[in-house]
Amino acid sequence: MIQTNFHYDVIVIGGGPSGASAATLLAKQGFRVVLFERDHFPRFHVGESLIPYCYPVIEKLGMLEKMKASHFTKKYGVQFISEQGKLSEPFRFEQYDPHERSQTWQVLRGEFDNMLLQNAREVGVEVHEGARVLDILCEGTRVVGVKVKCEGEEEKEVRAKVVVDASGQSSMIIDRFGLRVWDKDLKKAAVWTYWKGAKREPGLDEGGTIVIQTEGKKGWFWYIPLHDDVVSVGVVANFDYLFKNRESKDPESIYFDEVARCPGVQPRLEGATRCEDFHIQKEYSYKATQGGGDGWVLVGDAYGFLDPLYSSGVLLALTSADVVSQSVTSALNANDTSEKMLRSWESEYNKAMGRMRNLVMAFYDGLNFGRLVRRYPDKKNLITDILIGNLFNDRVDELWPLIEELKRETEMVGAT
Ligand SMILES: Cc1cc2nc3c(=O)[nH]c(=O)nc-3n(C[C@H](O)[C@H](O)[C@H](O)COP(=O)(O)OP(=O)(O)OC[C@H]3O[C@@H](n4cnc5c(N)ncnc54)[C@H](O)[C@@H]3O)c2cc1C
Repeated sequence: MIQTNFHYDVIVIGGGPSGASAATLLAKQGFRVVLFERDHFPRFHVGESLIPYCYPVIEKLGMLEKMKASHFTKKYGVQFISEQGKLSEPFRFEQYDPHERSQTWQVLRGEFDNMLLQNAREVGVEVHEGARVLDILCEGTRVVGVKVKCEGEEEKEVRAKVVVDASGQSSMIIDRFGLRVWDKDLKKAAVWTYWKGAKREPGLDEGGTIVIQTEGKKGWFWYIPLHDDVVSVGVVANFDYLFKNRESKDPESIYFDEVARCPGVQPRLEGATRCEDFHIQKEYSYKATQGGGDGWVLVGDAYGFLDPLYSSGVLLALTSADVVSQSVTSALNANDTSEKMLRSWESEYNKAMGRMRNLVMAFYDGLNFGRLVRRYPDKKNLITDILIGNLFNDRVDELWPLIEELKRETEMVGAT
């Protein structure tokens, strides 16, 4: 029998950007929301670079003034460095999208995520830190709550009309229901650390992200300038390339092997001091076969994770929280938390995420973006739309046949 007298309307599992945002947006609609986060914030998390279209959700959350007042580095654009070490002209967001959102931020995730979680508390979300969700409670095919262990307490069952899984790559519901589909083309891994005193570009470009290719285009480094003169510098490449067939599998030696293969990154680290340990993370991309069901819905990495090439993770976390919370709101207001209602966001969101994935694949397939823009100058804005995170724009789909055409031409030249 389905229970109807729930104490909470919504349970959120996980207090990262997707969970804190979904919880905030739902609490702002007047729903009773409880959020369980296993860690104590601020906690470390990778993923420091934001992109412009985070702005509308940050604004909806009521976080804009807090972000403006923060000490986070201001990011105005991105630059690329070729495998030979040649620096591109800066790609400034403002040039293509003259709006306040064109200045975004490089954040320390411990601090940023903590600000989002505090903000959730301020709008009335009941937040429990040190509270690990152990299991999902089901009645037939319907999810009705969670089993949770809060520090210093016995395990308990908590029920709600809707469970939002925002547990990141732990992906509780994906694992519980066997919904994960790995992306066979994006089996990557990353090794990274933090440097003090590493080189920065002058003026407005000081805070921009730099994407730096390694020799033979085997991988790429991210170069993300943070506050307090710290730069986050990490290498991403195929998992097998990074971790198999190496003399040493020690992260430090893998990292410096790759620095030695990257003329673009070497001079930037000269004279800099490493200020953190090395981190490694397997980062295979994946997506769930479905984003919701009776009484449950997925957000952020708990729904799908995409290679971090264009720094889209937090954008997708915030955006999915936004669209999912709209579906949950309609479902709760209609007193119908069925799969149909809780998946109403999914097809448009899949299109948006797919657009980002297509551009990621174009980079790994070796597309010459300069050539694309020279041939179709009127399409440059469409590439820009993706890079800034304006993903709910059907027009960008005009790009894919053009990219395919260039790919075919390159393959034909290679074959002759
Ligand atoms: C190498 C790498 C580099 C990246 N770089 C960038 C970047 O530059 N820019 C960017 O935007 N994105 C980047 N990302 C992606 C970004 O970090 C993620 O997409 C983003 O953190 C997703 O947010 P989320 O809220 O969905 O998940 P998370 O931020 O992972 O939050 C999930 C939360 O759930 C909690 N949790 C998990 N299990 C439980 C449980 N059982 N009970 C209670 N709580 C639980 C966790 O403690 C965590 O706090 C990068 C990712 C990787 C791997």
